[in-house]
Amino acid sequence: MEKKNIDWSSLGFGYVKTDKRFVANYKDGKWDKGGLTEDADIVMSECAGVLQYAQTVFEGLKAYTTEDGRIVVFRPDLNDARIHDSALRLEIPALPEGMFIDAVEQVVKANAAWVPPFGSGASLYLRPFIFGISPVIGVKPAQEYQFRLFATPVGPYFKGGVKPLTIKISDFDRAAPCGTGHIKAGLNYAMSLHAIVTAHNEGFDENMYLDAATHTKVEETGGANFLFVTKDGKVVTPKSSTILPSITRRSLMIVAKEYLGLEVEEREVYREELEDFAECGLCGTAAVISPVGKVVDHGKEICFPAGMTSMGPVTQKLYDTLTGIQMGRIEDKFGWTKTIIG
Ligand SMILES: *Cc1c(COP(=O)(O)O)cnc(C)c1O
Repeated sequence: MEKKNIDWSSLGFGYVKTDKRFVANYKDGKWDKGGLTEDADIVMSECAGVLQYAQTVFEGLKAYTTEDGRIVVFRPDLNDARIHDSALRLEIPALPEGMFIDAVEQVVKANAAWVPPFGSGASLYLRPFIFGISPVIGVKPAQEYQFRLFATPVGPYFKGGVKPLTIKISDFDRAAPCGTGHIKAGLNYAMSLHAIVTAHNEGFDENMYLDAATHTKVEETGGANFLFVTKDGKVVTPKSSTILPSITRRSLMIVAKEYLGLEVEEREVYREELEDFAECGLCGTAAVISPVGKVVDHGKEICFPAGMTSMGPVTQKLYDTLTGIQMGRIEDKFGWTKTIIG
């Protein structure tokens, strides 16, 4: 198969239209079997549920080429389970068993020419989403839905090297107790846009959100979970019912324990503890881990000993091990990578 003629390493994170995407429709109480289409446009009512009341959920995962030339995806079963949970919380009908993984396979195979080669640092980002497509004006769930999964090539995250982030403690809240912080829904992002634009205008890379009820506990950023490393080498991640359960973060906690033999803790993390940590990182599909060098709390700077020039030693080990498993360089003990083309 001939690859597309693209300068993979200079790609950014933006939408590029690829050849095929998967579409399935829900109507009269059931999902059709769906299939691939070349049509990247959606025609819908001006009154569609997604447009009026934001009834939509999504996922994000990557297909990439391993060192031995296979095309794989990482733990797609967890994206499948998570979109199921997200959908039910927004009264969106669950996908039929097997449809999600089948769509991933079909779209990756149909767009194999768009999967960046090994070593480029780039990958094919997959965006599955389900949304209410039928007209809704009185507030209620839509009667018809569409599931789509498209692919778009994205460049290496750490272009020009790793640069630790400076983040601010936000004055905005991300998620309320018993709200929707734990699901992957567009509505959580719409309401975070003002906070992130504000942070960028003030010169920060990201926001650290605290828990909405007490503003004493660390939650997450707009799109990534936190990992901390204590001065005695323990890996700690905040536990909260309003954090989005990152697949990367859950995988890194297992890597820390099972591959690196480190002690791990998922527990409440207080703002007051930040000064005690040696390293801090943000975890998500995009970067795996991006190191945080500094947190600013209303003018007060908290600088992690790992510094502003590179990843801390434990963060680096976690990063190298997980990306090693993903690329087929380190034994995949738990069967996390799924070969689509091999
Ligand atoms: C998607 C997302 C993450 C990262 O999850 P991964 O499964 O690791 O990509 C973290 N926080 C939020 C709010 C997210 O939407």
